[in-house]
Amino acid sequence: MADKLKRIDGRKSNELRPMTAKVGVVPNADGSAMFAFGNTIAIAAVYGPRLLHPQHMQNPATGILRCNYDLLSFSVNDRKKPGPSRRSQEISKMTEWALLPVLDLKEFPNTVIDVQIYIIQADAGTRTAGINAASLALAHAGIPMKNLVCSVAIGKQDKDIVTDLTKAEEDFEGGEGPTDFPLAKEANTNEFTLIQLDGKIPPERVKDVIEFANQACDEIYEVQKKALKEVVEQ
Ligand code: UDP
Repeated sequence: MADKLKRIDGRKSNELRPMTAKVGVVPNADGSAMFAFGNTIAIAAVYGPRLLHPQHMQNPATGILRCNYDLLSFSVNDRKKPGPSRRSQEISKMTEWALLPVLDLKEFPNTVIDVQIYIIQADAGTRTAGINAASLALAHAGIPMKNLVCSVAIGKQDKDIVTDLTKAEEDFEGGEGPTDFPLAKEANTNEFTLIQLDGKIPPERVKDVIEFANQACDEIYEVQKKALKEVVEQ
């Protein structure tokens, strides 16, 4: 099918922004990675497993995962007030939920694994870039994982489904209005670990969103694997 859609940056409807991934970017962390979709850049650093304090929060059956997402003040044009917000708390929580299904933390009772995710430059898709970086950082830290997690936001421009929206696309108010569908899945499977929806979409179009997400996640997985291989082969 010919792609007649005109996107602001000239991409095809199913085309991701150029991706960059690098593992081992924070030497003092137990594991770390950066992941970028175009102008959106996320850094993730993993610390742990470490004994969890206060003690009453410890779980003798398993370690726990604690993610902290932060959009840095000068990562956006309108300086963002520093510190936590409802938005950052929500994103931190859903990042944990997106990653937990691939982790096996039973080997680390009473401990916590901290994942710090910093968005150093933002042009939409920060939560998904953060999940991709965190997945790589956890693998780099040697945490037992059954798979990598790949994440992307699929959206709608009027009636067209599009992959990996920029901020300008997210803000597009024409036609049926903006729709943003962040997803995460276990690589090479049909197991989605996160599906969010901001906006409206007819239920019969959700299968198109899933198809676009599957294709994008296959490409993201290749970039993640390459970044991990680069540190293993060093
Ligand atoms: N954004 C901003 N200031 C904020 C929060 C967000 O400028 O305080 C921008 C930023 O570019 C972000 C985009 O709005 O990437 C979309 O934010 P959203 O909450 O939809 O999450 P994201 O798409 O980044 O996962």
